Amino acid sequence: MKLILLGPPGAGKGTQAKMLTEKFNIPQISTGDILRAAVKDGTAMGLKAKAFMDAGGLVPDEVVVGIVRDRLLEADCDNGFILDGFPRTVAQADALQVSLQTMGKELDRVISLDVDAEALVERLTGRRTCKVCGRGYHVKFDPPGKAGICDACGGDLFQRDDDREETIRKRLQVYADQTAPLISYYRDAGALMELDGMQPIPQVQEKMLSLLQAN
Ligand code: ADP
Ligand code: ADP
Ligand code: ZN
Repeated sequence: MKLILLGPPGAGKGTQAKMLTEKFNIPQISTGDILRAAVKDGTAMGLKAKAFMDAGGLVPDEVVVGIVRDRLLEADCDNGFILDGFPRTVAQADALQVSLQTMGKELDRVISLDVDAEALVERLTGRRTCKVCGRGYHVKFDPPGKAGICDACGGDLFQRDDDREETIRKRLQVYADQTAPLISYYRDAGALMELDGMQPIPQVQEKMLSLLQAN
């Protein structure tokens, strides 16, 4: 299963991707997670990416294209992968096609999650993430058993710096300008499936599984 999850910030890509990795035993490749790890580790790439991320803008295409190309070559991608948060521009989508072609691989599906702007703001302001294992929660829609503590591993939950309302608005605008064109890009390529992301997490998951199992 070689899959792209497309959708605005807060649509539920990461939440759904985590479930699919367990179900299909394939890795989730989140460029956001990889970039945040690089920022935390203080690598050269992280130093370069940080200002773009803090401002809610996109990290330059050549940086993320290189990350994904290298990641797709790792052995755990042999049986498939879930791209979460990549591609985000037409240039990234074109570069992905070239990388996949070179590897003799082809995408199976592109699933686009559709969610209203106001719901996105509420999802992102309430998002919490485990510091240790990366599992995502929501204070209202998907709360942990004990406030601030991860159910899965007992780690502390934190709120991302860019999940503040001002930066969220900027990210949604960047999505509309630079990423939303990928919906017609993949529709024209005959690869797109659209999914209503406004329903609760288990219902979205169920619909997603039925889309993935359909031909
Ligand atoms: P969200 O889950 O809210 O959509 P991500 O974790 O995917 O956010 O991304 C966080 C930030 O990392 C983005 O705002 C952007 O600065 C950077 N980023 C992640 N993926 C990409 C990408 N494919 N291209 C450019 N920048 C990216
Ligand atoms: P993305 O990776 O697309 O940015 P996330 O998967 O991180 O989005 O989800 C954003 C926030 O919304 C998280 O706090 C998550 O728990 C919550 N969430 C995800 N899917 C839903 C849903 N279907 N209904 C309500 N909240 C959701
Ligand atoms: Zn955890």
